[in-house]
Amino acid sequence: MERRFDVIVVGGGVVGLACAYALLGKGRSVCVLEGEDLGNGASQGNCGLLTPSHALPLTRPATLRQGLRCIGKADSPLYVRPRLDLDFLLWGLRFARHCGQKQMGRALRARSALLERSLELTREWITTEGLECEWQSGGLLEVYGEESALSGADQVQAILSEHGLDSRRLSAKETLEREPALTASSVAGGLFHPRDAHLRPDSFVAELARAVRDRGGVIQTDCPVHEILHDDRAQRIRTSRGDWVSSQLVMATGAWGPDLARGVGLRLPIQAGKGYALTIPSPSGAPTMPLLLHEANMAVTPWPSGLRLGGTMELSGRNLDILPGRIAALRSGGARFLDCDLTVEGDEWVGWRPMTPDELPLIGPSPTSKRILVATGHGMMGVSMCAATGDLVARMLCGEDPGIDPGPYSATRFQ
Ligand SMILES: Cc1cc2nc3c(=O)[nH]c(=O)nc-3n(C[C@H](O)[C@H](O)[C@H](O)COP(=O)(O)OP(=O)(O)OC[C@H]3O[C@@H](n4cnc5c(N)ncnc54)[C@H](O)[C@@H]3O)c2cc1C
Repeated sequence: MERRFDVIVVGGGVVGLACAYALLGKGRSVCVLEGEDLGNGASQGNCGLLTPSHALPLTRPATLRQGLRCIGKADSPLYVRPRLDLDFLLWGLRFARHCGQKQMGRALRARSALLERSLELTREWITTEGLECEWQSGGLLEVYGEESALSGADQVQAILSEHGLDSRRLSAKETLEREPALTASSVAGGLFHPRDAHLRPDSFVAELARAVRDRGGVIQTDCPVHEILHDDRAQRIRTSRGDWVSSQLVMATGAWGPDLARGVGLRLPIQAGKGYALTIPSPSGAPTMPLLLHEANMAVTPWPSGLRLGGTMELSGRNLDILPGRIAALRSGGARFLDCDLTVEGDEWVGWRPMTPDELPLIGPSPTSKRILVATGHGMMGVSMCAATGDLVARMLCGEDPGIDPGPYSATRFQ
């Protein structure tokens, strides 16, 4: 079987679907080829937070110190498994190099540009297409349990306000007033990010796919792409379901990014940052605001349809093992702050965040062909950045003004 399209998008996560949706809006014929099922990578089980407040990258001196302390400690929220893997060692060195103040500031500005644009576009897409995904835009509350951690909250707030990002420091009393489900004795203070929003990511994936089909796009699941053959005019995409042909190609393959990219001359420094989530039916007394629980290093996202606890960052290679201790840590971390029953049975999930060493996504053409674009490496921010990524990819492939400076996201910056 051979099928022809203007653009083929490989990968049916939030980023691939957003690219497809935006390209269809420009009148291109588009097909999404997904190796398994839509959202099966990192896109459906995540915490669904849209966080312009998280412009501050992980690449900062404090993370480096924390990372070094966590090497080999299998029960810490940030787990780095030491291993003799050249790509991983190189990735670690690059990450360390990006932890300076200057690099942090540059990354913050570039992340902020995508995050702000994406929030605006996501809201627009949800409204225009009537995407049913439990969207709420009432802000995000970061909760600090220990007095000694509050100076960290002050620092974050100072950096964010220096860059014009609205976040408010709250006393313990103000934090409890915002979210009465918190246990009074567990709260020392908080940070409130009024512009953040949240949605249910599995519903968002399903609804975005519906919008892609409504615009005339084709989505083929269970269709792993094995090889990309390309010349000046076309890409021939070799899959287990025959060959597909397109004049342009987008690789939105998340943490699998390096695999296919190698074939088109790109070495992508991406490591899988494994994270866990547990989704339970909302217990009585559940929070109504999405929360980040600082000392537990986890997020809590409430929807009418359930409550999700998510967190941990394991840099342990590409494995999908669910370690029971990690799920137990999500329950106990939540119980430390919340006055509701988190012991009920729920759905356990792991996914790989596509982590780059400078905390910026990789969006742009490959060195071998302007017709092949990469869109991956969104790390902890794929839901928050997908709409702006889709828009940027569509503008680049259609030769339009990109709207935001694409330089910082260049896919060839690590070549
Ligand atoms: C616990 C956890 C919580 C998170 N919470 C948030 C949050 O609150 N907010 C936020 O913004 N982000 C969050 N993230 C990050 C977010 O989930 C990711 O950044 C995002 O899902 C990445 O999307 P993607 O489309 O790039 O990758 P993926 O969703 O992984 O999609 C890539 C797809 O490509 C397919 N694929 C790969 N190779 C091939 C091939 N050769 N042929 C065909 N198909 C292929 C895969 O099957 C997969 O479906 C979280 C992540 C985790 C793990």
